[in-house]
Amino acid sequence: MLAVVKEHSGPGFAVKDVPYPALREDDVIIKVRSVGICGTDGPILAGTRQVPWPMIPGHEFAGDVVEAGSRVKNLKAGDRVTPCIVIGCGDCDMCIEGKEVLCDNLVETGIHVDGAFAEYVRVPAKVCRKMRDTTTYDQGASVDPIASAYRTVKASPVTSKDVCVVYGPGPIGLYAVQLLKLRGVKQVICVGTDVDEKRLELAKELGADETINTSAEDPVERVRQITGGRMADYVQDCVGVPGVPKAAMGMLKKGGTYAVTGLYHSMPEVDLGKVVRSEIKIYGTICYTRQEFEECLNFVEDGRVKVEPLITHHFPLGEMERAFAVMQSKQCMKIILHP
Ligand SMILES: [Zn+2]
Ligand SMILES: [Zn+2]
Repeated sequence: MLAVVKEHSGPGFAVKDVPYPALREDDVIIKVRSVGICGTDGPILAGTRQVPWPMIPGHEFAGDVVEAGSRVKNLKAGDRVTPCIVIGCGDCDMCIEGKEVLCDNLVETGIHVDGAFAEYVRVPAKVCRKMRDTTTYDQGASVDPIASAYRTVKASPVTSKDVCVVYGPGPIGLYAVQLLKLRGVKQVICVGTDVDEKRLELAKELGADETINTSAEDPVERVRQITGGRMADYVQDCVGVPGVPKAAMGMLKKGGTYAVTGLYHSMPEVDLGKVVRSEIKIYGTICYTRQEFEECLNFVEDGRVKVEPLITHHFPLGEMERAFAVMQSKQCMKIILHP
């Protein structure tokens, strides 16, 4: 079968023929129909994020079950499914506490074991969620990034009176905008830069009340202006680059909350003096639980969260090189591959 394989450390990947995965008794084999390229796939393919190799990346996907192992009860060939990425061991202290995302023996599809940039992928049956007949594979492949934004929103203390800022209008940020609106907050402001012009327009279409382009205006002053000096109650950082924490802290009111969804690969400067004096709360979330994944599938299936406006490109799996180049150019939002 055809697959995209990370064969060595450093830049580069191969698009090549590999063996069909062997079925195991608790697992299913899925024919991949749609698989999204995630922000974290960029560093994996470019070789700046270390993964075990050889490995097939790809974790935002949906497809059809073609084979089920002998102990699988709830799935059969022909079922249309989307699997969540997090595979907890079920036995460690974290799993017992229900915190699978912090599992000591965590396995993530497409990060630690072979993923879905392939015609077929093997996953445990327990992580698969069945989709309605009317749900598209592209919608199913979008549940993973929605759920990553959702875990942060769900953990937030926001109320109907709150002004919320979403930093970064990438897919995760645009899902955060929609999810915060679903939570019923007062106002959502989405922040980006010059290269995000189209994305900021899309943020407005998807419910953002205001947008800020930090290349053209001081985001802290703009938030002061929008809120009449009151400042923001909540900032959700969907970027993960140094520089954002300083601005985020600057636009928060006393007692405000700074929530981090973006994955930091380098250490940012954080004004802990302000955290103390203004009693700022900071927290982060990683991935999502199976329940949160299921809740996000519900959001997509009944139209409460829109995914189609975010999907800008489709490529056959064999054209990964081209898709990767489009991704690096940033002239895109979500790219979906079809093996
Ligand atoms: Zn992802
Ligand atoms: Zn565990």
